[in-house]
Amino acid sequence: TASKEGKVFIKALFDYDPKEDKAIPCKEAGLSFRKGDILQIMSQDDVTWWQAKHEGDANPRAGLIPSKHFQERRSFRLSRKDKKTNKSMYECKKSDQYDTADVPTYEEVTPYRRQAHEKYRLVVLVGPVGVGLNELKRKLLISDTQHYGVTVPHTTRARRSQESDGVEYIFISKHLFETDVQNNKFIEYGEYKNNYYGTSIDSVRSVLAKNKVCLLDVQPHTVKHLRTLEFKPYVIFIKPPSIERLRETRKNAKIISSRDDQGTAKPFTEEDFQEMIKSAQIMESQYGHLFDKIIINDDLTMAFNELKTTFDKLETEPHWVPVSWLH
Ligand code: 5GP
Repeated sequence: TASKEGKVFIKALFDYDPKEDKAIPCKEAGLSFRKGDILQIMSQDDVTWWQAKHEGDANPRAGLIPSKHFQERRSFRLSRKDKKTNKSMYECKKSDQYDTADVPTYEEVTPYRRQAHEKYRLVVLVGPVGVGLNELKRKLLISDTQHYGVTVPHTTRARRSQESDGVEYIFISKHLFETDVQNNKFIEYGEYKNNYYGTSIDSVRSVLAKNKVCLLDVQPHTVKHLRTLEFKPYVIFIKPPSIERLRETRKNAKIISSRDDQGTAKPFTEEDFQEMIKSAQIMESQYGHLFDKIIINDDLTMAFNELKTTFDKLETEPHWVPVSWLH
């Protein structure tokens, strides 16, 4: 498959350094790249070694990169060995943090710009607990309530007197909730104090139907289910700064720790910082290939401005999306 001008672009989903590659016929002829880089394919004549250059690179000389087929085969062998010998590498509790059976190599991409008649895209925000995702989302929402929207979650708990159905939550019965789970209506759901809570796919649709940008924060493992033609999600990873900067910037802030069953906000502890950084590392290594943008939340105002700039660009400039979204 080739794009209109006959050019083929791919997004690299892994880091590659030809100097570290024992299989490459000539290390000097290799092209190094990082996860997320856009490469233009110059030749796919060889089944093992493609020729490519970095997108927009004026230098016409192409370098060798492993072909998709070759890279898939050897990473699959590697990842299986990894799992056998180094099971507790990240001390994962959830098995779904290990769902990399389909090894990410390259994804064919094409520039995409939203057409005037098209709905806005879904923007997915991911990041570890305590990184400031909710504050950023809230700031964005209040900056332009006509433009940004968030989903209303479903719950099976009783409505409180000051709440209205469809505002804080959509209140449904346990039976209906379970049926909806069976029918894959939820992007994610969880249980809290004997009640279910969850975000439905339809709730994303209803925000987009109002012609608003839908802001959604979810666990990174749900992102791949949202990567469809319908939603064209743009995925932003909110990353913590260094532990030193966390200590400095979060001195007076509070966190609802994932270790706290009561769910009360308390000042950050050293353990919270370490957990945040470790969790961010796991997210980035397991799901980094799905991120369109990484924003480091060091200073909240600066991170917010960067987020805002990213949104403005998203609506005015072309972005790389999988070719499969446009067919
Ligand atoms: P409350 O019943 O006090 O409104 O909320 C109780 C808990 O439910 C909160 O800690 C909140 O984080 C959680 N919750 C609210 N919405 C959702 C959701 O869509 N999915 C999940 N998994 N939990 C939710």
